[in-house]
Amino acid sequence: MKEFDIIEHFFQPRSYQRHDVVIGIGDDCAVTNVPEGQHLVTTTDTLLEGVHFPVNTNAGDIAHKAVAVNLSDLAAMGAEPAWINLSLSLPKVDPDWLNDFSKRLQELTEYYSIQLIGGDTVQGPLAVTITAQGFLPKGQALTRSRAKPGDYIYVTGTLGDAALGLQLAMGKKDVQLIHRNYLLKRLNTPTPRVLAGTALRRIAHSCIDISDGVVSDLKHILFASQVGAVLNIDRLPFSEAMQESVSRDDAVRYALAGGDDYELLFTIPEEQKGNLDIVLANCNVSATCIGQLNGYAEKLELKDGDAVYSLEQEGFQHFA
Ligand code: ADP
Ligand code: MG
Repeated sequence: MKEFDIIEHFFQPRSYQRHDVVIGIGDDCAVTNVPEGQHLVTTTDTLLEGVHFPVNTNAGDIAHKAVAVNLSDLAAMGAEPAWINLSLSLPKVDPDWLNDFSKRLQELTEYYSIQLIGGDTVQGPLAVTITAQGFLPKGQALTRSRAKPGDYIYVTGTLGDAALGLQLAMGKKDVQLIHRNYLLKRLNTPTPRVLAGTALRRIAHSCIDISDGVVSDLKHILFASQVGAVLNIDRLPFSEAMQESVSRDDAVRYALAGGDDYELLFTIPEEQKGNLDIVLANCNVSATCIGQLNGYAEKLELKDGDAVYSLEQEGFQHFA
């Protein structure tokens, strides 16, 4: 099977179709229309086997994660996704693998109403690069740099699940089967908070998606906005699977330093606290307040109740 046949068989016919695509797969470039009054928002992420997903992850889940991590970046800017490009590096042409991969890709394009408009296919180590593009009303980007002292810090969903899932995938830990399935799902098929991202546009001062653990991603906001934060580790939201599978100390470390959560971390001023519940009720996602910003630029203080919690605590590096 040649590159052309792969594209024609697995990719060209397998995508949701949008009206704003003038020319999709098949020419030298895609040609699309951006709505009046909107910014075009673009992001790219590459997933490498053994680095960003475990070796032997099934093809469908690889497709899912590659789309999800990109849509998560769009969500963190408050953008609504529209189009994706796919660059695939494959060690060999395996029709079963390509079938599973492109089927899941199709399901996701339908679920999110996005269109696959192009890409590239080459031979090499297994790697998947997706470029995702979306729209945002002019001037309404949700950035990392506009957080204000006094803002409350929130996260969507629960934290640390994917990091614990990775331990399971690597055979380093074992938990009850029902929890195992949930945690592996959180690792391999994350849910980008697309609706929440667009809904937060009007109420949040800043936003980022959590891909490297709360500490490292919150620090991006602290640096970009020149603010400090008190993070209450006793308020971190954990799934039932997490709570029933590991000690509280381990759960905290997975949340603070683990990766791959793809939840949104955002900050809102006091007066928007009431609106937040209304806004998120429509998005099928919960949000938990885990701390507050202050004026001590770039300083992050962790608190466990009234006690100071030290990041240098034994074991933290191991999880980082
Ligand atoms: P060119 O050589 O002009 O770059 P290609 O032969 O690589 O064109 O690609 C032909 C068409 O197929 C282009 O529209 C390209 O965007 C698309 N395409 C190639 N690989 C993929 C892929 N993995 N997924 C989706 N579209 C692809
Ligand atoms: Mg090409």
